[in-house]
Amino acid sequence: MILTSLWMGWYIGNVSFPKTHYFRGKVYNLRWRKPSMTKKERKQHKKAGLQLMGKHTPPYYGSAGGMITIDKSLPMEDFADTTLHEALHACFPDLDESAITEASEDITKLFKRMGMKISFE
Ligand SMILES: [Zn+2]
Repeated sequence: MILTSLWMGWYIGNVSFPKTHYFRGKVYNLRWRKPSMTKKERKQHKKAGLQLMGKHTPPYYGSAGGMITIDKSLPMEDFADTTLHEALHACFPDLDESAITEASEDITKLFKRMGMKISFE
């Protein structure tokens, strides 16, 4: 994956979209599309004026693994933040939404301030 920051923004190139990933020993299926919402979730997000960019479903008893869905059509910054956010959910399922949101936003802000350039090639 190449994730590059430019002076005024971000762009993404050569990114692959794996189908599975292990987080702390638990396998997750990864889906790279707009997450679906239940009627209740749709109502909650509309009320809060929020867009659902990613979704994390932890493994439940008897299931083969968890699932993470991330909208890959998001702008770069939202895509990176959402991927980090959902990965943190998978790593720390005991943390609540506000803790995960705070952590992912703070880490993303640090990366931005650093003019972070990440390359795995
Ligand atoms: Zn979340």
